[in-house]
Amino acid sequence: MRLVVPLVVALLAGCQHRTEYLGARVPSACTVRDVEGCLGWMAERDLAAAELDLYEDAALRAYVQGVADRLARGSLLAAAPRVVIADRDDTYAISGRRIVVGRTTIEKLATEAELAGVIAHELAHVEARHGVVSLFGRPPADNLAARRDAEAIADERAVWLLERAGYAPVAMGRALRAVLEAEDEEHPARADRIARVEALAGGRGGVEARGELLRRLDHMVVGRDPRLGHRTTGDHDAWVVAALGVALDLEDGDAVRSADEVLAVRRGDAAVVAYAIGRPWAREIAAKLEDRAVTATALGRLVSGVVPSGARAALAPLDKLADSVRATLPQPSPGTRVAILERPRGAVVLELAGTAEPPFSVCRRPPAAASASRPRHALRGGSGVPLGECPEGFGLRAATPDELVDAAPRRIVLEPAPSSGRIGRLGICRGRLLDDPALRVAAGDPVKCADRAAPSDRS
Ligand SMILES: [Zn+2]
Repeated sequence: MRLVVPLVVALLAGCQHRTEYLGARVPSACTVRDVEGCLGWMAERDLAAAELDLYEDAALRAYVQGVADRLARGSLLAAAPRVVIADRDDTYAISGRRIVVGRTTIEKLATEAELAGVIAHELAHVEARHGVVSLFGRPPADNLAARRDAEAIADERAVWLLERAGYAPVAMGRALRAVLEAEDEEHPARADRIARVEALAGGRGGVEARGELLRRLDHMVVGRDPRLGHRTTGDHDAWVVAALGVALDLEDGDAVRSADEVLAVRRGDAAVVAYAIGRPWAREIAAKLEDRAVTATALGRLVSGVVPSGARAALAPLDKLADSVRATLPQPSPGTRVAILERPRGAVVLELAGTAEPPFSVCRRPPAAASASRPRHALRGGSGVPLGECPEGFGLRAATPDELVDAAPRRIVLEPAPSSGRIGRLGICRGRLLDDPALRVAAGDPVKCADRAAPSDRS
């Protein structure tokens, strides 16, 4: 999701008439002309209530916020931006005094000073009011040269903010090495950025706080979190949304284009696109459907219908802002027939298409084959496996315990170094190392490992 700065001009007048956004009461920022504050709140609400994309770990968020607070005290900002941790790769500042830190960014870092470097870069964007910018994501580009300048300025400012807060300025170069993977045209070349911040840091040390960072990361999810959509490798070929406890069975002959957060499957003339969204957002979409049918099922409320074309244009300023922000959320296009199954934490949206509109049902039972007594990684049952009570078409059913286990994410575990030396030579975390093998540690120092090998390494 990317918010666009010019939207904010839409909110000009204090507007009391709408008091809710995605099922939550709007804060006073939205009614006292604090456009930035309102927009930041909406963006965070989108991550939590619409996209299911916030990484829920209050202690980790508070810790990262503490680092931002410490940096902000040396900045020109009156208050630190609010930090949220999202289940995504990008780390970026958004208009609205928010910094979105990607969980997978944190995973790559080795010390608190490196984390501070990443945050300091974003804080510099907020300080300079650069608007929608990011460390290594892809913001909308209208003036590439100006954007590259802004990035170079943010890097330089970050080194200064780090030192001012007592952190080792040399950590900035390591942070960039760790998080910058691909080159893109909105940022100066990776090598140039690293060389520049290293020259500015001049080898000066300071607080690194490696142990502090790692303690907070113990048990954090690493890599892709499969709980919002995962094609299971268990007994049965199915797409499983473990976070919502549901699964959709796939059959031999299905053309499956995506197996992760979004499932796209073609079966004969029919096609389905499925994805999970937050419950408040699902309720808003469901409430507007035409030709609407509501069914109570064993798995939850099922609403089906057609997405209306031509929504009424909003008139009130806050509604205009809300509509513009909503346009960035995952949703079916007008004219699409959808079925939305509500679960306690969220909902699965199924967009039904094809020359023959596919029948859709909620199956009462999981496939008989997926019993707990079976080995988890047995070969797929194929056509010999009974499909429970889902006679035809596409169906959602409750995920089995085995499928939920299969979709469990990998997590960080700390292992103490048995002796001092370079991590790569200590013989720990075999095949699961998440730290830099060249990093030197002392005996007993924690080393970042994963609790098991990456899925691609599993047989
Ligand atoms: Zn940046």
